[in-house]
Amino acid sequence: MGLSAIEIYKLLPKTNCGECGVPTCLAFAMQLANMKVELSACPHVDAAGEEALGAASAPPIKLVTVGDGEGKLELGDETVLFRHEKTFYHAPPLVGVVEDGWDADAIKTRAADVKALVFDRVGREEGMNAVAVWHTSGDMAAAATTAKEASGMPLVLIGSDEGAMKAALGAVGGDKPLIVSAEAGSNAAMVALAKEHGCPVAVGSDGGLEGLVDELKAAKDAGVENIVMLMRGELGDLFNDLVAVRRLAINKSFRELGYPSMTIIEGDDEIETTLEAATLLMKYSSMLVLRNYSPELILPMVTIRLNIYTDPQKPIQVKPAIYKVGDPGPDAPFMLTSNFSLTYFSVEGDVDKSKVPSRILVIDTEGLSVLTAFAAGKMEPDKMADAIEASGIADELNHKKLIIPGMIARASGKLAELTGWEIIVGPRESTGIPKFLREL
Ligand code: SF4
Repeated sequence: MGLSAIEIYKLLPKTNCGECGVPTCLAFAMQLANMKVELSACPHVDAAGEEALGAASAPPIKLVTVGDGEGKLELGDETVLFRHEKTFYHAPPLVGVVEDGWDADAIKTRAADVKALVFDRVGREEGMNAVAVWHTSGDMAAAATTAKEASGMPLVLIGSDEGAMKAALGAVGGDKPLIVSAEAGSNAAMVALAKEHGCPVAVGSDGGLEGLVDELKAAKDAGVENIVMLMRGELGDLFNDLVAVRRLAINKSFRELGYPSMTIIEGDDEIETTLEAATLLMKYSSMLVLRNYSPELILPMVTIRLNIYTDPQKPIQVKPAIYKVGDPGPDAPFMLTSNFSLTYFSVEGDVDKSKVPSRILVIDTEGLSVLTAFAAGKMEPDKMADAIEASGIADELNHKKLIIPGMIARASGKLAELTGWEIIVGPRESTGIPKFLREL
């Protein structure tokens, strides 16, 4: 944030009241300097302190919202260069292009394709996030309306023709689309439209990063706060620019480039597009617009994105619930496991392999695997007994037999006592499940 912990400390009340959640003002200052807390956590900063610290503690990369209501997208607001330092917060939306020169059916079909491209990745639905309507030669207002109706997703409007963009905003401006100035020469006109409609705007420059700073400043001076940097160029230059901008914003608190970025992948070649998109997802595009969005291209994109934009300090978790594998009847086996995603999907896959329809109760272990959860007291017999009771599973079954992971065999006696169920100790590793279930 620019100020040292001591400089921040001087601006705090120094009463050590602890209301911010840490015991002393100095500790709070140190956390604020490392951007681990928000200034608003201290209710006692006076107006002068707030003014001095407020600007300094603003996020190094501004948060920009695209769209309105449910499904709106958030870009930027990142605080670190590397995910292992903390986490990345806002996964870059993947945006599929339609052109207003296409006929209405083609726009409708492709916009619906964007919506439909959803993949199940470790229990999460991951897919594309918005439709970009690009003005070429057609009716921009009609195209934007069709794209909105067919996808129901936030829109990105790309163009440089003031009349066409104005017409599109007349039709869909209430949804707060991102207005993208396709050429540097149209920046001022697009910024004016963004101001008029209260929309975010993306501007670029033909003059490198120095030119971009000028264009961003002009947009800000015109009264628009929600600005996105349109970054274009050959992949190597683009990569260097994106890294430089991120470093300047985060390491040097260079506010003039403290905005989220967007990139456009124009090519159609599958392999080149995949590699380009992967590079830009990793470093550091905040939004990717794609002309080619075939399923085989989007699958690796969502997988890379998911890997980069999950919190490294929080294991990926499955929602605690009863999951059915196949079509289990009331006599089918019933087993229990932890909610660590990798554990659950291993168990589910091996149950599926057994071809024995079964039910799996996933209990909340805060994302810990079975043995770790047991050692940490998050998979104790009383907790498992409570989860069985709360699940209502007894009403679905003709039996009271529960299979537990072999690794927690020690819990079987106490669990039987607490539940009155017969506890069957299953295999230690999930790979043993197919044989175990077939022989059961
Ligand atoms: Fe200091 Fe404010 Fe925290 Fe109280 S709430 S300890 S005054 S920083």
